[in-house]
Amino acid sequence: MKNFKRYLVTSALPYANGPVHLGHVAGVYLPSDIYVRYLRLQDKDVVWVCGSDEHGVPITLKARKEGVSPKQIVDRYHKIIKDAFEEFGISFDIYSRTSSAEHYKTAQEFFKTLEQKKEFIIKTSKQFYDPEADMFLADRYLQGTCPHCEHEGAYGDQCEACGSSLSTTELKNPKSVLTGSTPELRETKHWYLPLDKHQEFLEKWILQDHKEWKPTVSGQCKSWFEKGLQARAVSRDLNWGVPLPVDNADGKVMYVWFDAPIGYISATKELTPDWEKYWKSEDTKLVHFIGKDNIVFHCIIFPAMLKAEGSYTLPDNVPANQFLNLEGDKISTSRNWAVWLHEYLQEFKNKQDELRYAVAAGLPEARDNDFKWKDYQDRVNNELVAIFGNFVNRSLVLCKKYYGGEIPQANIGNDEKEILNSIKETGKLIGEHIENFKFREALKAMMEVARIGNKYLADSEPWKLIKTDPEKVKTILNTAIQITASLSIYCEPFLPFTAEKIRKILNITHKKWDMAGDANLIPAGHSIGEVSLLFEKVEDEVIQAQLDKLMKTKEDNSSDEKLELEPAKDKIDFDDFLKPDLRVVTILKAEKVAKTKKLLKLEVDTGLDIRTVVSGIAEHYSPEEIIGKKVCMVINLAEKKIRGIASSGMVLMANDSQGKLSFISPQDDLHAGSVIS
Ligand SMILES: [Zn+2]
Repeated sequence: MKNFKRYLVTSALPYANGPVHLGHVAGVYLPSDIYVRYLRLQDKDVVWVCGSDEHGVPITLKARKEGVSPKQIVDRYHKIIKDAFEEFGISFDIYSRTSSAEHYKTAQEFFKTLEQKKEFIIKTSKQFYDPEADMFLADRYLQGTCPHCEHEGAYGDQCEACGSSLSTTELKNPKSVLTGSTPELRETKHWYLPLDKHQEFLEKWILQDHKEWKPTVSGQCKSWFEKGLQARAVSRDLNWGVPLPVDNADGKVMYVWFDAPIGYISATKELTPDWEKYWKSEDTKLVHFIGKDNIVFHCIIFPAMLKAEGSYTLPDNVPANQFLNLEGDKISTSRNWAVWLHEYLQEFKNKQDELRYAVAAGLPEARDNDFKWKDYQDRVNNELVAIFGNFVNRSLVLCKKYYGGEIPQANIGNDEKEILNSIKETGKLIGEHIENFKFREALKAMMEVARIGNKYLADSEPWKLIKTDPEKVKTILNTAIQITASLSIYCEPFLPFTAEKIRKILNITHKKWDMAGDANLIPAGHSIGEVSLLFEKVEDEVIQAQLDKLMKTKEDNSSDEKLELEPAKDKIDFDDFLKPDLRVVTILKAEKVAKTKKLLKLEVDTGLDIRTVVSGIAEHYSPEEIIGKKVCMVINLAEKKIRGIASSGMVLMANDSQGKLSFISPQDDLHAGSVIS
């Protein structure tokens, strides 16, 4: 492994149109906090930057909906997000924002450099324009039908039903979200970053030179490379964003995904005049912590930008996490299905470490994971209270009781040497796991130290020995206190508030990682302070209250659902009704369509023939569970190619306003080919 002199760590900039929830915490902020706190304990030269991402269309749409300015929206959420991070112990060196003057300057200089180096292509093309609103309709200002899966609510930049990334002109039946009118095409000029030009370099850099990256990350990159990278527009016709610093570009701003990652650079500049040392030296290790939805931007687009600029180093690793679900359901801001960090901090005062522990134990490192309140309770009660808290408390209480809190002299024997040695070894293991971004394993190893301590006390039974061999008890409790002090070091990346509590009780200053496991971490004769419990048990009522809150959200959502039903369609003639040939069909085979999230390829028996249809249901049904099912289908629909597969027909699905899909099936067991009328 390369020997790096310093670290530059970035965490994905949270988008300032809403507060931060547990999914964000588990995906990005907790793992990066563990990583950086560990590096600091190792005395490494490390800088950790983050800030609010304050541009882009969703913010302007939210502002319009609420009748306020985009600035008011970002000011509100920047404060909520920043305060919540601080209280939760997310220890950025700086939490900035992309509306800062420094950021505008930095992003514009960056853009100018690329412009001067002729790294952009400038193209005039036809884009949708809403004459009523008098503006071009970028990204989410446009909704229409997806050209790939026929989903009707696709956005100008993405179809959420099939996951395809779109450009606005690809949408069928486009409508302006501002006025609902059909937009017209007008010519406009835009700046494009030709990613294809950098493909060869990026491919080698990721797939050959960085084989240590998570397979989930390099796998996604690989599929982008296979599709072939294309030029990507980096400007927009909008009035909210960083204005393009070039002539003849009035009314144009940078695409939010162009300026946002430059925010890492601006934040570093705000933090230190030495910023170039971190961004422009070969011996800096740059690590981007992100969620899986940002992989393309951090592994392909931003590195292409940095490389095109020419003076920056590229990331050494991008340890993206998968998603965290909540109680078996996808976290969703619009459905309010989330545990909001600022709400947790209000409802669970001074219980930051309990949440940090429960989330760290279930980080979605290799696959999506689920947060359950019952697991939270179990983790706190059975691990933090019963193992960690129990060991520390017993050691401290006995030291108070027998020696008035003055650490006794030890006469270290082989047992103690062995135990302290195993603690040092475990510390190395924790460090290795953290350096390899395996935070769940690291947390387990940290708890192992508490387990070693617990076992040592249980085996040596100082409370019995005090009557028969008081000299030995001195050694035992001295050792137990050394282990407690070691724990305060090893737990700090994960449980910083607990580490601080232990230091206060032990009456010691902050120590470094390598000192843990020393026999003289705290010298004999040192006096400890007041003893108090580290953790409290979580009662059933507390968990029930959280589950009730979520249940209420579910109920609110389903009552909203009634309100949001689609309006009735226009009347049709009976003859029109007879046109679709609707039949009961049997699903014979089902498999996922490669490289798609939503599509299943089905082989169905229509009674008349066996045929193939592609259906966008993969997120609602697994292939295994639907084989043999009798469902309804339109069998006389013109054949259509979907992802290269000829699909003849459409399986009917009921679609609720939350986007949940459900098959329509006959009540009784009818044979395939039965006519529906
Ligand atoms: Zn689609």
